[in-house]
Amino acid sequence: MILYQLKCADGHAFEAWFKDGEAYEVQRGRGDVSCPYCGLADVAKAPMAPHVATGAEDPHEQRARVLAARILEAVTELRDEVRRTCEDVGPQFPEEARRIHYGEARARDIRGEATADEADDLRDEGIDVFLLPGIPDKRRS
Ligand SMILES: [Zn+2]
Repeated sequence: MILYQLKCADGHAFEAWFKDGEAYEVQRGRGDVSCPYCGLADVAKAPMAPHVATGAEDPHEQRARVLAARILEAVTELRDEVRRTCEDVGPQFPEEARRIHYGEARARDIRGEATADEADDLRDEGIDVFLLPGIPDKRRS
């Protein structure tokens, strides 16, 4: 399999996997390769970004690393936001979320711990639950 960076005639950049270079040419010739954003079948291989050719690192690995760093940054920001705005109820989270949902406790944003199963049960009851991906937390006291 080979991953190609493609661009449609409208300038949308996207990626697609092909069995090999020939499969890409054949599928493209048949108009089977279309832009996921606008549907145009007029696509071409996009030139690789010039700034990735700076070292021995594989461009895809580098992209993955940059992406991972961005995701980590976004998740960290989200966790900080949650920490600032939500009351920490710790392991009482599932119980407290239910009490709030059923009007037995003051309505407020809370955070805490729940297993994936507990979170699923809460969602089944129509309670909004958002699981934050676990990341190393240097600031945990
Ligand atoms: Zn397009």
